[in-house]
Amino acid sequence: MSARRELARAVGGNTVALRVDPIACEAHGLCAELLPEAVTLDEWGYPIVDGRRLTAQEVRHARRAAAACPTLALRLERLAVSPVEPPPV
Ligand code: SF4
Repeated sequence: MSARRELARAVGGNTVALRVDPIACEAHGLCAELLPEAVTLDEWGYPIVDGRRLTAQEVRHARRAAAACPTLALRLERLAVSPVEPPPV
């Protein structure tokens, strides 16, 4: 296991967020039906995701939603782990 993964486990946080490829998305809206806790739709039916870290339960649901996306526009992305906040600028 890599040091980064070990660190992610040590801090106990999920490091996965949802992303939408706006070019590939065709506004089917399936993702919002399958994952309403993390996806809302805009007035044209395109998904809005906030990019936050998903909880462990949301990750399971998000994987299902991503697998069901007919255009493969919805995906899970690993976030960088930062155990120490950067100093203010
Ligand atoms: S299921 Fe896929 S194609 Fe449909 S709105 Fe969601 S991201 Fe877009």
